Amino acid sequence: MADKTKGQALKEQLFYKKKTAFERKNQKELAAAQKYAEGYKIFLDKAKTEREAVEYSEKMLEEAGFRRYTLGEKLNPGDCVYYSNRGKNLFALRVGTEPIEKGVRICAAHIDSPRLDLKQHPLYEAEGLGYFKTHYYGGVRKYQWVTIPLALHGVVTKKNGEIVNVSIGDEPGDPVFCITDLLPHLAKDQNGKPLSAAFTGEGMNAIVGSSPYFEEDGSVTPADEKVKLTVMAALYEKYGIIEADFMSAELALVPAGKAVDVGLDRWLIGAYGHDDRVCAYTALTAAIDNKDSEHTILTVLADKEETGSDGVTGMKSFLVMDLIDELACELGGNPAVIRANSKCLSADVAAALDPLYPEVSEKRNNALIHCGVAMAKYTGSGGKGGTSDASAEFVAEVRKIYDDADVIWQTSELGKVDQGGGGTVAKFIANWNIDTVDIGVPVLSMHAPFEVISKADLYEAYRGFIAFGK
Ligand code: MN
Ligand code: MN
Repeated sequence: MADKTKGQALKEQLFYKKKTAFERKNQKELAAAQKYAEGYKIFLDKAKTEREAVEYSEKMLEEAGFRRYTLGEKLNPGDCVYYSNRGKNLFALRVGTEPIEKGVRICAAHIDSPRLDLKQHPLYEAEGLGYFKTHYYGGVRKYQWVTIPLALHGVVTKKNGEIVNVSIGDEPGDPVFCITDLLPHLAKDQNGKPLSAAFTGEGMNAIVGSSPYFEEDGSVTPADEKVKLTVMAALYEKYGIIEADFMSAELALVPAGKAVDVGLDRWLIGAYGHDDRVCAYTALTAAIDNKDSEHTILTVLADKEETGSDGVTGMKSFLVMDLIDELACELGGNPAVIRANSKCLSADVAAALDPLYPEVSEKRNNALIHCGVAMAKYTGSGGKGGTSDASAEFVAEVRKIYDDADVIWQTSELGKVDQGGGGTVAKFIANWNIDTVDIGVPVLSMHAPFEVISKADLYEAYRGFIAFGK
């Protein structure tokens, strides 16, 4: 081959070039990514709500030797513990052997996903059909949630405190629920409306039954609300719950079905809830596998991110501070010093450039599928409104950690300037004087009932969290 010209060599030296995982990885490494994805798909199927994610994560942690921890307990270097906040928000803590004032390596993901919550009085009937009324949770594009099979997941807490776990629609043979839509023949008026108006929140009612209640002699009951009675009787038989119990319940309709490979080559995964279980799973498995790290590693699986991170199980709760105070108290350190020396990856998904909708993205700065885990220095909307904007110094630090570990990563920005925007938990952690940057897996169809990610990016997210905790 002819020698490179000075210009060609200089270009190679000076220019940045984004490459896919397929260009950078050998077949053995690619096979490892495929294998890792299988465990993730099981996690997706088992963890459709934040409560289910906590339950399954606790099992993973227990198997890895972590033990349950309650605030105020003794902590020692080398301890592996987890703390469950009301069963909806989980903290996995690996106490390091280095002095605690060196800080904590935090990875914070969230385990709640957009869905259709049941209202507190959800059940009614109309024209012989029984319905659940819903109130959508998080950023839901309503038209995507009609005419798909839905499963009911959640808990009902009875007045005596007994907690009943509900799961209908995801086991083989289970019935499902669904929200109907107009036939095209009669959709003239609806078709003329903008998407934001064509489907209303109060119209998101799911069919839950359709037959009247039958008396013991086989006759239709003379009682009114016959279908509602059938549904209530079925729920009473299966779960022992009465209508008033809905008032103290957390029940949600989520897409029914399992995570599946997308495409003949099987390099994509389609599923409900990649946002943000993809970062929860990768951060958690990294925390479990980072056995020889001397750092203290804290993995946070937060709830309520999709509604703004408020509340006792959201990232704005002071629990992270409390845990750092506990570490300071038990291991002998100044909590302010610990926070100042801590670093955090806000582990949340990025918007992948969608070739079907290139007009909303700016291709030089948008994350691309298969090009690795995506780092967003800033988020927000408009003039970066609402972002914590990680410092150049911290970005350089993470950049070096990732490059040294040969983690495939890219930068990302949420679409074109002024196209929209969004945020993550990064700013809440940064507000506590902890350097934080957003890192996560690029997603296609984010917040849809069926989101798509790359197995290669999934694996690089895991490898990145490992490198960060090492
Ligand atoms: Mn998210
Ligand atoms: Mn989201």
